[in-house]
Amino acid sequence: MVLIDTHAHLDSKKLAPDLDRVVSRAKQKGVSRIINVGITLESSQKSIEFAKRYPEIFASVGIHPHDTEELPDNYIEEIKKLVQDNREYVVALGEMGLDYYRNYSPKKNQKETFIKQLELANELQLPVIIHDRAAHEDTLEILEEFKNEVFGVFHCFAGDEKIADKALDLGYFISFTGNITFKKAEELRKVVKQVPLSRLMVETDCPYLSPEPFRGKINEPAYVRLVAEAIAEIKNVDFQEVVSITGENASNLFKI
Ligand SMILES: [Zn+2]
Ligand SMILES: [Zn+2]
Repeated sequence: MVLIDTHAHLDSKKLAPDLDRVVSRAKQKGVSRIINVGITLESSQKSIEFAKRYPEIFASVGIHPHDTEELPDNYIEEIKKLVQDNREYVVALGEMGLDYYRNYSPKKNQKETFIKQLELANELQLPVIIHDRAAHEDTLEILEEFKNEVFGVFHCFAGDEKIADKALDLGYFISFTGNITFKKAEELRKVVKQVPLSRLMVETDCPYLSPEPFRGKINEPAYVRLVAEAIAEIKNVDFQEVVSITGENASNLFKI
């Protein structure tokens, strides 16, 4: 049985100082693989550093939409170099995408950085981890341009059933976090019900979005088990089945 946390930010100040114990608690709960996801060039380097240090950790490198305003001119070359120098540790590009909820960076920069990273993913033949918050239409429109060329996962899915259908049509996986356990997440649970298990993945997005009963506390990969349990309950299927199929999905997409 292999539980895979497909989206963690272990370089966060809340988790990094205690990383040995965070990883060992994850293993105790059956979480034997964790993808650490970069949001800046610096955190992408950290992801690789962790992947080198822990056999359980794999790296994704990329620029989050929040951090697209003040990038160095050569950031794409920098990402490419990080991948090429660390082929055995880097399993994906991202997280990348659009965030119109917070709009920390101008839309123009977000879109440009998203497109450039998709082009790079196509060139390097790596899967992508998509961050889409309140930007479904533009995200899907951009991904449509790369149809049949780039594949990956919508992480921390936050759309409705229609958006999920479109993401599935484009060939993407859909990944859920602890927020599916929140009391008011009825709409999201409808999406969980609808998406076939063969296209689902689980993640924590730690240190954020701790599932119930830990909501509001620091999240960590060990809690991805609670996300898988919630999916089993919502879909009325066996927990072991959720673990084995979501694990297989992640292991096939990321080749881990
Ligand atoms: Zn995200
Ligand atoms: Zn994230």
